[in-house]
Amino acid sequence: MFGRLTTSRAGCRAFALGSQPKRAASAFASSAPRQAMRKVRCAANGSSSSSSKLIALDFDGVVCDSCGESSLSAFKAAAILWPEIFRTPEAAARKDELVEKMRAVRPVVETGYENVVQIRCLYEGVSVDEMLAGWEKMLPARMSQWGLNRAEMVDLFGRVRDEWIAADLDGWLAPNRIYEGVADPVRAAMSRHELYIVTTKQAHYTEILMRDMASVPFPPERIFSQTVSGRPKGEVLAALAQAHPQAAERVFVEDKLSTLEKVARDPSLSDWRLYLVDWGYNTPAERARAAANPAITIIDKSGFVDLLAV
Ligand SMILES: [Mg+2]
Repeated sequence: MFGRLTTSRAGCRAFALGSQPKRAASAFASSAPRQAMRKVRCAANGSSSSSSKLIALDFDGVVCDSCGESSLSAFKAAAILWPEIFRTPEAAARKDELVEKMRAVRPVVETGYENVVQIRCLYEGVSVDEMLAGWEKMLPARMSQWGLNRAEMVDLFGRVRDEWIAADLDGWLAPNRIYEGVADPVRAAMSRHELYIVTTKQAHYTEILMRDMASVPFPPERIFSQTVSGRPKGEVLAALAQAHPQAAERVFVEDKLSTLEKVARDPSLSDWRLYLVDWGYNTPAERARAAANPAITIIDKSGFVDLLAV
């Protein structure tokens, strides 16, 4: 497959960056899988040895604890969307309480814009337990009730982050945290294995955090973002597997159990080894469910180091 590729490395890089727009574009959604496949071919061009693993890492909750930043960005976005609620002394007085509750409900978030819907729900009195138990149905119901559109919400959340980064990069970085003991094994694995990041976070934020917080200059063509398309990570895994047929193993590391369960149910992805990290945004109940699933292995930090080392 790679023998037919003639695109230069520089060309691949340009395509990779161009395929991950900062903001939503409706035309992108329908062509996302094809573009993802082309991007994988570019990223994989000229690589792969039979002894290296193909490793796909989730970002938020595996490499980076971004909960503080995403909650503060959600408050800023909510203030733009609903100024009559969030630009009031009452909302300002409750900011710390709301941000704290946002950490508790983080396990159910799939994509960043959902934080904005969550913070209004919490402001209006929805409890943490109600949200943890019923977010899958609550999200579309509230989106409909408040007349919200997914692409516009992705755009708004991205705009808030872009403006924050442009005005105060250090201030935006500060509430993010790279998990202890994660950056070094990721850096070492980049030369040893076929390493990718597969995330629902927009790619350019991931790249900034890897560079400025983790001190790991991660190649942008190896960062796959599903923010705009909203399509499942399984599609990227399938494209990666096709691009690296000689990989000794296929490894997917996540902190969100439902994402691993979806991959585990897909027979076409049965040769991926699935790992749930015991840090990040999962609950004790989810870890217990993962432990009972023979397709999923729970790993701690030392397991993560071993997984990326050999
Ligand atoms: Mg995650």
